[in-house]
Amino acid sequence: MKIALVSIGKIARDQHIPRLAESKDWELAAAVSRSATVEGVENFADFGDMLAKRPDIPVVSLCMPPAARFDYAAAAIAAGRHVMLEKPPGATLSECFELERMAKAKGVTLFATWHSRYAAQVPAAKTWMANKSIRKVTVTWKEDVRRWHPGQDWIWEAGGLGVFDPGINALSILTEIMPRALFVRHATLEFPANRDTPIGVTLDFHDQQKAEVTAVFDWRQEGPQTWDIAVEADEGSLLLQSGGAKLLIDGKPVADAPDGEYAALYARMFDLVRSAKSDVDLAPMAHVADAFALGLRKQVDAFHWAKEQG
Ligand code: NAP
Repeated sequence: MKIALVSIGKIARDQHIPRLAESKDWELAAAVSRSATVEGVENFADFGDMLAKRPDIPVVSLCMPPAARFDYAAAAIAAGRHVMLEKPPGATLSECFELERMAKAKGVTLFATWHSRYAAQVPAAKTWMANKSIRKVTVTWKEDVRRWHPGQDWIWEAGGLGVFDPGINALSILTEIMPRALFVRHATLEFPANRDTPIGVTLDFHDQQKAEVTAVFDWRQEGPQTWDIAVEADEGSLLLQSGGAKLLIDGKPVADAPDGEYAALYARMFDLVRSAKSDVDLAPMAHVADAFALGLRKQVDAFHWAKEQG
């Protein structure tokens, strides 16, 4: 199936282009970029131009930051194309609801991807949690923004989500493995004095069965990086580490499973298009929106990319 890749930045180069090249299902037929080109395919600087000139490409995959995503997705759907969205699927929930409505009306597939849900050990964690009496869930997502987002100013602009950009990955796993719905009850958001999005977040969830569920996201972590979800249940404990790649049950490591988040995303998109279905789960984004709605705001030290300026 032919596909066009739109916005050739970090994630397009790190994951989308190599995984599409490896896939037997997909042919990367065009790239759309305001600033870059991809070797071996037709390149377009303008998205509308690509939609008009390549009616033979039925699928587009959108890799720009969330604030710009709606206009591209809406244009693609209006042009009858199936659409795959990088996470988070939009800047606001209402945009995503509208994309869902448009895709349904047009009869095209919309896939709001959450790559972390396809991390190697997430299915095993979900299976383990399904029949446990869960007492406590602790999400710890602490990384160094300078290492993972060098120079990406959009993440500090309103709509860029700040530390929720990685934190929403944790929430995508939490909402996948937790056997019931959760609600944000309290949130604290720490905003650098010179930025519009948070650098640190704590979340406290309400669980109807009284489990203690908390999350901390922090972008100031140097040295070892932490992407863990720890679960305590009456029957034992679970520790999902490295963003879902590693799993310990009752302290014992579970045998590694093959890693392949983006290969799995593209396999899922292929199936969705073939079966004329969509997959849009907005639960992770709803928690982020709720945290912005409910959260206490604290001002913390200004953030500068160069540490000596800070
Ligand atoms: P990025 O490299 O900073 O930007 C991606 C590309 O988006 C840019 O190269 C640019 O492409 C286009 N773009 C930027 N601003 C735009 C605007 N205002 N309007 C239209 N296009 C714009 O970002 P990224 O790290 O790839 O992240 C993109 C998305 O992928 C985010 O939603 C992020 O959460 C998600 N993601 C990132 C990672 C990661 O490791 N970085 C991992 C998983 C998911 P052109 O110059 O080609 O037009």
